[in-house]
Amino acid sequence: MKYALLHGMRDLRIEEKPVPEITPDRIIIKIFSCGICGTDVLIYNGKIPHSFPYSPGHECSGIVTDVGKNITHIKSGDRVAVDPNYSCGFCYYCRHGYPNLCENQKKIKVKSNGGFAEYISVPETLVYKIPDDVSFGQAALIETLSCCIHIIEEADIKVSDTVVIIGGGAMGLILLQLARKKGAAGIILSEPVESKRQIALKLGADIAIDPTRQDLASVVRSMSKQGANVVIEGLGLPDTIEESLTLLAKKGRLILPGFRLEERKIHISPYFLTTNEITIKGVFLNPFSFSKAVDQVSNLECDLIITGNYPLEQINEAMKEAEKGNQIKLIIKPNGGYKA
Ligand SMILES: [Zn+2]
Ligand SMILES: [Zn+2]
Repeated sequence: MKYALLHGMRDLRIEEKPVPEITPDRIIIKIFSCGICGTDVLIYNGKIPHSFPYSPGHECSGIVTDVGKNITHIKSGDRVAVDPNYSCGFCYYCRHGYPNLCENQKKIKVKSNGGFAEYISVPETLVYKIPDDVSFGQAALIETLSCCIHIIEEADIKVSDTVVIIGGGAMGLILLQLARKKGAAGIILSEPVESKRQIALKLGADIAIDPTRQDLASVVRSMSKQGANVVIEGLGLPDTIEESLTLLAKKGRLILPGFRLEERKIHISPYFLTTNEITIKGVFLNPFSFSKAVDQVSNLECDLIITGNYPLEQINEAMKEAEKGNQIKLIIKPNGGYKA
């Protein structure tokens, strides 16, 4: 079978190897869609450090072709999505309800290879059946949606809150839809790319601003004189995080789901935090939200978010296109079904 292997920064190759062998506790899936995540691009271009060789792709869906003899809840022919985030179940964090912070997450090799491949082998606990009316492309968004559900729950958005979302990529545009459903009174999305701002407006943002040309702080104050109740900064950039703090109302929550390697630290005034009862929260991965995402994905506007499909052989073109930043979600189709 063919699969993508990253040998070093920007050195991504399609290679051949046998289809993973079935073992008693594994499931083999023929992959029909695998989304390119911002994280994949940051590993590809070296902005998130990683060891090599590395087989990328973690947002995949497909059809089960074989199951091990101990597998009980999945059978061959099932249409499924894969939760890529493994937790061991026995470390301190797993046993205290935080599987996303599992101490053994990285130590155990869960996947035979990444999702940019014709086949993958994964343990049963990570495999979820998808509804018949959900396409494989939509199903490739389930992982992103599951992370967004966790973010929204941690942000504790209340009816009539003013919410600012920084970054109009797939996550920002999904967060926007979820925040609207939660009853946010005003939603401002900040994104420099014009086409993404247009989509944000279609998906329910009240205002979509270009931060390179407009002052976000004054736009926020024009919507709510107290400021924003919630700011979700999806970029993980020190400058934007510092700016985000200035946008908050008293009792405001700054939510930080974005991460990348940044040398610079953020400067925060403890006096400001205390006297305004500000909360700053890091939010990581998707604990207990994958199943909710499977249920909710058909209520999501996916067509505007998936902006391109590529065959596996064109993964380098797709990565370079994703890197430019104008696309929202590009999907790799390792077993056909893409539109040229
Ligand atoms: Zn992802
Ligand atoms: Zn654990």
